[in-house]
Amino acid sequence: MAGYVEVSRHDIRRLARHLDLGVAQFEEKHIVEVTRSGRKRIKSAHDTCQFLSADRACTVYEARPKDCRGYVCWDQDDTTVYDYAKFFLLPVAKLRRLEHEENKIDA
Ligand code: SF4
Repeated sequence: MAGYVEVSRHDIRRLARHLDLGVAQFEEKHIVEVTRSGRKRIKSAHDTCQFLSADRACTVYEARPKDCRGYVCWDQDDTTVYDYAKFFLLPVAKLRRLEHEENKIDA
């Protein structure tokens, strides 16, 4: 999806370490915007996150930002995920836990 991913100080440190960069280097290379309130965002590629590979995998998965960790990445349209959450009246994080439990059962 188009847009930006907001990153905290902890996210930046973790991503910089993961990419073998210093914090300043990481910010120079990857932070595109600092909001008026001081929040930082990582640079987008054309339509997607700069860390999304051509085969649609996260290239910084182990160090991905906190916001990404709470995002359900099912192989479906995004609207479907939120439709599910709305239908079941469950927070997305709980749906994610249920999905993991279901995957364990299927394995
Ligand atoms: S999970 Fe990875 S590719 Fe997806 S938005 Fe987050 S950092 Fe970018």
